[in-house]
Amino acid sequence: MEVIITSDRTMITNHHGKEFLGFMTTSPPLFLPESIWMRLAAPKMSVNERGEPWQAPYGLRKVEAALLDAGIEAAVIDPEHIGKHPEARVVAIGHHDFFALGPPSSEWWVLTKREPVNARSFRRFMESKQMEYFRRKGARIIVGGPAAWQWLYKPELIDRWRISTVIDGEAEKVIVDIVRRALDGEELPRFVQVGVDGVPSLEEIPLIRKPSVNGLVEVSRGCPRRCRFCSVTLRPLRHYTLEMISREVDVNMSSGLRSVILHSDDVLLYGSYSIYPNEKALIKLHELLKSKGVSQVGWSHFSLSAVKYAEDEHKLVSRMSGMLGDYYKGVEVGIETGSPRLAERMMPAKALPYDVREWRNVVVDAFSIMHEAKVVPAATLITGLPDERPEDTLASIELVEDLKDFRSLIVPMYFVPMGLLRGESWYNREPTEEQLELMRVCLRHDLRWVEDIARWYMRDLNPLARYLLSLFISSLKVAARRFLEPPLERPHLNRS
Ligand code: SF4
Repeated sequence: MEVIITSDRTMITNHHGKEFLGFMTTSPPLFLPESIWMRLAAPKMSVNERGEPWQAPYGLRKVEAALLDAGIEAAVIDPEHIGKHPEARVVAIGHHDFFALGPPSSEWWVLTKREPVNARSFRRFMESKQMEYFRRKGARIIVGGPAAWQWLYKPELIDRWRISTVIDGEAEKVIVDIVRRALDGEELPRFVQVGVDGVPSLEEIPLIRKPSVNGLVEVSRGCPRRCRFCSVTLRPLRHYTLEMISREVDVNMSSGLRSVILHSDDVLLYGSYSIYPNEKALIKLHELLKSKGVSQVGWSHFSLSAVKYAEDEHKLVSRMSGMLGDYYKGVEVGIETGSPRLAERMMPAKALPYDVREWRNVVVDAFSIMHEAKVVPAATLITGLPDERPEDTLASIELVEDLKDFRSLIVPMYFVPMGLLRGESWYNREPTEEQLELMRVCLRHDLRWVEDIARWYMRDLNPLARYLLSLFISSLKVAARRFLEPPLERPHLNRS
C-alpha cells in the first residue's frame, strides 16, 4: 500500500447507523465515562484483513477514488489498523473538526469548560505509536477536509506532528499531484488553498468505489444564497447526473447498505440553477431511490425557504416524503437568527423568493410543513454574530418559542468566522444573560420533543446502544431542570 487514508475514531465510525449520534462526538462526555460515551457515539466498525472499515466517510472515499483512478495504490484504513501497512509512504488524514474549533464543538467547550471528545480522540491518534512510526520513517503526512482551516490556528502542531501539507478546499483535483510528488520525494507546499478556479468540474469529480458511512451520496455541491457566515458561499454550484448518483447508490447497496443519505448544501435545489426548486429533477431523484428498493432515506440539508416554496407551489416536501414510506426522515436546516435586522445583514438571500424581512414567517411555515410531512429537522441557530445586539437574541428566543409545536431539535451554536466573515473575531466568551436564555429555550424545546424523536430513532439500534442513549436522555432531563430555572425576565418584542 502506497497511501493510507485515515482519521481518528470519531470519524471512522458509522455511529451505529445513526448519523445524528455523530453530534455526540462534538461534546465532552456527559453523565457517562468517556470510554462508554465513545462506544455510543463512535463505535468501531468491522474491518477486512487489510484493516479497511466496511464504511468510510464520504470525503475520504472521494480522495480514495481520485487516487485509485490515477493508478495510485490507496485505501481508507481504520486508525487501529494502519500498522498493517508499514510500507506506506503517505498518510492522508481528513476530519470535520480536528481541534474542536468548529460549531458546535467550540460552544460545548466554552459551556462545559472541557475539551470535546473529537479533539481528544484526534490528538490520541496523532500521538499514537503507529503515527510516530510513520513520522520516524519519513512518511509524508497530508491533512485536509472541511476543518483544514483550523491548522492555521495550530502552527506548532504542524511542526510537532510533521505535517507536510494542509489542503484547504475541494481536494479531488489537487490530491493526485500532491501525492505523486510526495511519493517521488519532492518538496511539498505547506499549505494548498483550493480556490474557485481549482475546484473540480462535474466531470472531474470521481465516483466512490467503496461504501460510504450510512449510505451517504452527494447530489450537488454549492449553494446560490451566499450567506456571509457560510464557507459554502465560496463554492460554485454543480449537480450530479442521475447516472452518477445511481452508480454511487449501487456501490453502497452492493455492500449490504439499505439506507441513503442524500447530501448537498441544499438538497431541495438539486437540478436547479436558481433559488427555485426543480420539481421534475427532485421527483426523478426520489423515484430513482424508490426503484432501487432503498429502505430508508434522509437528507443532509434543506433551506427553509425552499421547503416553503416547494410545498406551497408543488406539494413537493409531502410528495417526496410520502413516496419514500411512512416513517420520520431527518434533515439538517439552518434557522441562524430570528432577528430581521441580522437576517438582512448576514443572509440577505436566505429567504428568497420571499422577502428577508419575512424570515420568521418562512421559518415557522417551513417547520409546520415538515411536521405534517414527518420530516424531522435538526436546526441550528447562530449566536455571537458580529454586531449582534441583545434584542437580536431576544428575537431568536421568540422565534424558537413559536416553533414549540413542531417536532424538531434546535441547537444554538456560537459564531465561528468562516466564509466571507473569515477575518472576524471568534465568539468564545461566556454567554450573556440573553444567550443563556436562548440556550434554555432551545433545551426546553428539545426536551419536549426528544422522547418522541428518540422512540423512532432508537427502534433499530442495538440493545446496548439503546440502553445507553436512554440513560443519557434521562440524565440530561434531570440535569436540565436546574439549568432551566429561573427563566429570564425579558421585554416582549414588538414584531411588527
Ligand atoms: S443557505 Fe445554507 S448552505 Fe447556502 S449559503 Fe446560506 S448557510 Fe450556506
